[in-house]
Amino acid sequence: MIKKQANLDATTTEDLLQQLRVLVYANADLTMEGIDAVLTREGPVLMGDARFAVSQSEARYRHLIKRMSALVVELAPNGEIIYLNDVITHITGFSAVELIGRNWLDMLLPIHESMDISTLRRSFLESGELNDFRTSIRSCDGRRKFFSWNSVNVHDADGLIERVIYFGINITSQVFAEQELSIAAIAFESQEGMIVTDANGVILRVNSAFTTITGYTAEETIGKNPRILKSGHQSADFYAAMWTDINNNGAWSGEIWNRRKNGECYPERLTITAVKGANGIITNYVGTLADITMSMSAAEKIKHLAFYDPLTDLPNRLLLRDRLKPALASSKRSGRLGALLFIDMDDFKTLNDSLGHDMGDLLLQQVARRLELCMREGDTVARLGGDEFVVMLEDLSERSLEAATQTEIIGHKILADLNRPYQLAMHYYHCTPSIGAILFNEHEQSVDELLKQADIAMYQAKASGRNTLRFFDPQMQISIDTRVALEADLRLALAENQFELYFQPQVNYNRQIIGAEVLIRWQHPQRGLISPADFIPLAEGTGLILAIGQWVLEMACARIKMWECSEHTQHLLLAVNVSARQFHQTDFIEQVNLILRHSAINPNRLKLELTESLVLDNIDDTILKMNALRESGISFSMDDFGTGYSSLSSLKKLPLDQLKIDQSFVRDISIDPDDAVIVQTIIDMAKNLGMGVIAEGVETEAQRDFLEKQGCPLFQGYLFSKPMPIKQFEQLLELS
Ligand code: C2E
Ligand code: CA
Ligand code: CA
Repeated sequence: MIKKQANLDATTTEDLLQQLRVLVYANADLTMEGIDAVLTREGPVLMGDARFAVSQSEARYRHLIKRMSALVVELAPNGEIIYLNDVITHITGFSAVELIGRNWLDMLLPIHESMDISTLRRSFLESGELNDFRTSIRSCDGRRKFFSWNSVNVHDADGLIERVIYFGINITSQVFAEQELSIAAIAFESQEGMIVTDANGVILRVNSAFTTITGYTAEETIGKNPRILKSGHQSADFYAAMWTDINNNGAWSGEIWNRRKNGECYPERLTITAVKGANGIITNYVGTLADITMSMSAAEKIKHLAFYDPLTDLPNRLLLRDRLKPALASSKRSGRLGALLFIDMDDFKTLNDSLGHDMGDLLLQQVARRLELCMREGDTVARLGGDEFVVMLEDLSERSLEAATQTEIIGHKILADLNRPYQLAMHYYHCTPSIGAILFNEHEQSVDELLKQADIAMYQAKASGRNTLRFFDPQMQISIDTRVALEADLRLALAENQFELYFQPQVNYNRQIIGAEVLIRWQHPQRGLISPADFIPLAEGTGLILAIGQWVLEMACARIKMWECSEHTQHLLLAVNVSARQFHQTDFIEQVNLILRHSAINPNRLKLELTESLVLDNIDDTILKMNALRESGISFSMDDFGTGYSSLSSLKKLPLDQLKIDQSFVRDISIDPDDAVIVQTIIDMAKNLGMGVIAEGVETEAQRDFLEKQGCPLFQGYLFSKPMPIKQFEQLLELS
């Protein structure tokens, strides 16, 4: 049956052939006879017999290929589609009408990214025929289909290519399968070790990561049981639980220890998954394993960093606290006492400042090693930070006196060991510790309290001259608490105007007032008058002394200025105490000169009192500064002279105007022959060096007489007047 009758009205042969093609295509299920019938009926009307014969044979060929299961496409030499069969329209979803006339080469896409389709196109245009090549084509719904092609060229009578016929096979599912396989293969060769067994646990396959981790090659493993990796670290119960998990839940995951081929045990993260067939029966087991030696050691490292001091590798504060808690508990149980030794290196800051932090670090490391050597088994040495170390002793005697003796013995061993000189690179260095000790257990004590009390005891050791051991004394805590409160108040004192200057007269042998020493007083709102001996050291420690010292100097200069106006006062010399920290500021000279300029005083009226320790601290810098200030007209007195360690040679170098004999020598001058000799020596020395001399702390006529006899021309002390507020002092001046 003819399904569609073509309207064959072509005027040229080419047109006719095209029309015939469409006709044959449209009558897809025509039999050979049917085609013949159509052609016989329609063909001769338009064509000569020869032409007709050709077209008839062609129609038959078309019919054949139409029925082939392969894709067939017929192309003009330029690649234009002349004809194609149903298989193509079926697979691509495009209709024949949509495809005929399109260029075939434009429709071809590479099968994978690395394929160069333009080379293919070029070789097609050059030679037509191409065999066994794969391309993809995008179907009308956008999906890619993959084909393998072979082609034949059809030549015309002159031997030129007339047509090219392509036969293709749909290999889409094959390509997808190959892709899946290669993905699976890549996945199998991942960083993680993989092992596939059958249902009986016989190894079927392992990947190369497995070999890297375990040391076993595929050949050595296949056919064996994963038991070859067993380390013996896990119990039979462990494995039983693991298999119960796999069989019940289909998988198990955890960390286990396995053994490598070389015998080394290593931690691994293992996941075992059961693979089930369609019928739900387990066919395989797949294991993935990762060597976690590295991540375990990283975790160890992080833990170490958190609990150990990186410089000395000693336990840090955190770990000490961690160990202190159970130590307290166990001491309470056993009744045996424990002790903490709080160790602080004396003058560590000086080492850092003079030799640099690298040398400071070296010292701390050596201190750490020495402390470790002093320890008994089970004791802990920790570094709290800076130059502070703590030693924790456990299992001492049950009796506190005995425990204290044991602690003292260890403490003194530490003292002796840390006193030995240190070799710091090229430097030979001597450094001493101050040690505070406290016993624990007798009472309920918290870790914080204990550390605080050991710290207080250490300060007690510092206060008693350093390089020594002191046990915690509860009285000490009270005074420390007071000091802390005082320090807080001191910060406000200057702003709140709580300071006042007292003046203590300095007199000549005629008891005429030649000047005064300015002495600061703190009028505390609650505590009343506080002596400088109680707060100046505090101010030094906190740095507040800088502001306080400057204030004193300004007030003193303002007073000198006022005194300039009166005949009674313009000759007076005012002595001001300068603290070490204040004097050693780099811009101290500028500060003083600024005050001099602002107050516009005659600097000859100002005397600065320096102590021996201040001067000796950095003698060259001190001399430079003193000389610079002396040029402005200021004079210098050496306070508390005789208590320090000035040598005659250093004294000669110093541009001093006066030595001030310390009151401790003056006090016992008439009863202690040694003091008498010292005072005599100081007076002679001052004369020989061309300096003036003044004695302080003169309380009795006997002292004054003795001093005068020895040739001391100036005096200061309660005998003449106590330090007093300016009003009283000025009244005193008017009287004299
Ligand atoms: P210093 O410079 O040696 O002052 C002398 C101290 O001896 C004063 O104590 C004074 O009151 C006391 N004193 C004077 N005559 C006698 C006496 O006959 N017998 C006795 N027993 N003591 C006498 P003060 O005022 O308590 O000062 C104590 C220390 O405080 C001073 O010792 C000084 O080092 C420091 N200081 C006082 N004012 C200042 C200041 O403005 N700046 C600085 N940096 N330090 C100051
Ligand atoms: Ca003084
Ligand atoms: Ca003094």
